[in-house]
Amino acid sequence: LSGLVKRFPVRDALGRRAGAVHAVDGVSLAVAKGEVLAIVGESGCGKSTLGRLMLRLIEPDAGSVRFDGEDLGALSPAALRARRRDMQLIFQDPFASLDPRMTVEQAVAEPLRLHRIVPREQEAARVAELLSRVGLRPELARRWPHEFSGGQRQRVAIARALASNPRLIVGDEPVSALDVSVQAQVVNLLSDLIRDLGLTFVLISHDLGVVRHVADRVAVMYLGRIVEQGPAREVLSAPRHPYTRALLAAVPGHGVKAPPLEGDVPSPIAPPPGCRFHTRCPFAEARCRDSVPELGGGDHRVACHLADSLPAPEPLPPRLAG
Ligand code: SF4
Ligand code: MG
Repeated sequence: LSGLVKRFPVRDALGRRAGAVHAVDGVSLAVAKGEVLAIVGESGCGKSTLGRLMLRLIEPDAGSVRFDGEDLGALSPAALRARRRDMQLIFQDPFASLDPRMTVEQAVAEPLRLHRIVPREQEAARVAELLSRVGLRPELARRWPHEFSGGQRQRVAIARALASNPRLIVGDEPVSALDVSVQAQVVNLLSDLIRDLGLTFVLISHDLGVVRHVADRVAVMYLGRIVEQGPAREVLSAPRHPYTRALLAAVPGHGVKAPPLEGDVPSPIAPPPGCRFHTRCPFAEARCRDSVPELGGGDHRVACHLADSLPAPEPLPPRLAG
């Protein structure tokens, strides 16, 4: 992803243009083959929009997306449709991706037909195989989505996403709508599948517990921009951006102590100038209000004027860090 920008027009009660939501504002990011990249941040930070831009489900206002060296924006509609089999999205709410009028078998078979993955006569066998891959008994194929629990429905949605043999999967909060008790099962299933099938996975999540479990790399977003990115181990255990520290400090038992986040996320219609985090940052200085900090170079990057001079985050006492 290179220099991606996406704004959504906002209209007033009379339908007149009244500004724009700055959803994604200059994001550049690379995902390596076979890697699990997590994009984290509070709701409204632009991470879902970024996921949709990545799959070219929406058009950017500026910037480009390359998949395997190919500029997705330069493809004809037909070529982009053909490319779709390589890139799949798993939604938060499996109801959003499953048609209630289709049996599980029909839902999973649809992409097989659309992308001509197997001949008709092999379809039922392939559906059975996909269902067992996601831990569902093939006999369930004739049932309807409403007959399943939330966790089972998400398994069906995963089977459907896998049907076209994709190489890249973007999961937008894939377990957030599920009961906490089944979240871990579905996360484990996803991480096993990703490893076994050699998939590239972009996990969009606000849940750092889930992220810690599966991510190789993490990118942290705030108000449309990436403020920190790097190897998951480093970003999650030695966060450098004040925002990342505050997010981690809010996770019980994480072992990072930092000043808590104060106030609300400012409106993305009029984001603060300079560092977008300055209205909530305990370390903000005068320059933070008018100069935009660049995401530095290297493997672990931070967009903060004070990145090199901030005190190391204080570890919690061992009793609390448990
Ligand atoms: Fe805080 Fe300034 Fe760093 Fe922004 S640039 S995170 S306001 S210290
Ligand atoms: Mg979202």
